[in-house]
Amino acid sequence: MTTSDLTALTELVDDAGAPLMAERKPTPGIQEFCAAATELLGADGVIRDLTAREKASRDWAHMSPILAAKLPAGHAEVVLHPTSHEQIPGIVSLAHRHRIPLTPRGKGTGNYGQAIPLYDGAVLDLTGCARVLDVGDGWIHAEAGARMSDLEAHARTLGQELWMFPSTFGTTVGGFLSGGNGGTGSLVHKTNGDGFVQELTVVPCTVGAEPFTVRESDALPYIHAYGTTGVIATATVRLQRARTWTGLFTAFADWASATAALSALVRLEPAPRLVSLDEAGLVQVYQPDPALDPTALSLRAIIEEEAVDEARAIVESYGGRVLEVRPSPHGPALISSLSFNHPTYHLMKAKDGWFHLEIRGDVLLGDTTEIRKVFPDTLLHLEGMRSGTVGMLMARYEDEQTVYDGITALEALGVGVHSPHNWHVDRRLDLVREAARAADPLGLLNPGKIPAASRETS
Ligand SMILES: Cc1cc2nc3c(=O)[nH]c(=O)nc-3n(C[C@H](O)[C@H](O)[C@H](O)COP(=O)(O)OP(=O)(O)OC[C@H]3O[C@@H](n4cnc5c(N)ncnc54)[C@H](O)[C@@H]3O)c2cc1C
Repeated sequence: MTTSDLTALTELVDDAGAPLMAERKPTPGIQEFCAAATELLGADGVIRDLTAREKASRDWAHMSPILAAKLPAGHAEVVLHPTSHEQIPGIVSLAHRHRIPLTPRGKGTGNYGQAIPLYDGAVLDLTGCARVLDVGDGWIHAEAGARMSDLEAHARTLGQELWMFPSTFGTTVGGFLSGGNGGTGSLVHKTNGDGFVQELTVVPCTVGAEPFTVRESDALPYIHAYGTTGVIATATVRLQRARTWTGLFTAFADWASATAALSALVRLEPAPRLVSLDEAGLVQVYQPDPALDPTALSLRAIIEEEAVDEARAIVESYGGRVLEVRPSPHGPALISSLSFNHPTYHLMKAKDGWFHLEIRGDVLLGDTTEIRKVFPDTLLHLEGMRSGTVGMLMARYEDEQTVYDGITALEALGVGVHSPHNWHVDRRLDLVREAARAADPLGLLNPGKIPAASRETS
């Protein structure tokens, strides 16, 4: 893997980048809580150093100019570092006893302030709970802080691979399940709430914090719930037979041809792992690479080696040019690292004054003239899915109200929009509320993230 591939895959998990927090009034009981936590975790597991607390108090919410204006939004008074999942119940039980808000955290790369401790208290950093515990035919069982990249590497040694992983490949399985949605592999397997999870062990914030196990669809209230329905201590997720993937990089002159080719590649058999499309304005902000033409639309696919000839024929039949077929690990790694929200990241790194929306709908494959009129200087990134096209819309930021008005206008054009500009749980809310009532009766787990019933978002 090249240095640039590695940088693209890992820099997010190391990047801090947000303003200093102001000290606020301590949460009552925090000193006693810290003393008791030290008995459980030892002094090294209970961090009160300001730099560590600042780092644990932010995520990637600053990618939204609307959320960035509200930062810093919460303040970790202590960061707890358990080193095995067996230590989690003791800590959660202590938080319950001392009434301390407790926000679980993986690598802190959530886009929406998901991991920001809005009500201060303790941040439970789970990155030290990173063991792969067991693996079998079609599944891998790991502690919540294990990295997706480590799960994939481990599975590969046994001839298997993950169903899916996010473009932030080095993030934790607990964070991906609690805050993420999908990624490489979602073309076939949809979101992380569509069968990826076989089993979770969850620690509730109750008197005894007795862990419980949920399987299959019973795990849904704990997926994308931002930790409000319990701390995931371990997860078992699905694997498939490892394929020999390769990276196909192509260039197109116009949107209609590129989207027609994208649709055809999505239907290719054997199925690709990922198919992404960027327009030239996005390619121009990526690190220069012979496989990326900054003057053209870039259609990229992770495909099985045996499908290369057919994929090449598809591309050429729609007037595209194959720039390169780059084998594993570099080709697929580069394509993954430019997928989902990474184009937004690269754009914002290169230029000031942009915002983004998560969009969906096959209307995006057609004539986008009207869609592009909604916001100034719109740029589109698409991901091909068998369940329907998704993507990112990036445009120049004017003000908050213009964004909301634009969302209404896009929806009127048939574009589905998910706004990354609020930190509320916004999927399966009824299930999440019900599970949170049982698992967190005092509302101590990542408080402020479940919206009041009157304030639901789409
Ligand atoms: C540039 C960029 C690209 C991204 N691309 C993708 C993508 O392709 N697909 C995608 O789905 N997401 C993507 N994300 C969002 C995010 O990176 C992923 O969802 C990531 O997997 C989150 O993992 P994490 O370890 O950083 O979790 P964190 O950000 O630390 O946590 C996420 C949420 O989960 C909670 N949480 C963490 N661990 C636990 C646990 N063990 N139990 C209960 N709750 C817990 C936290 O409180 C928080 O609410 C992207 C973000 C950025 C900035």
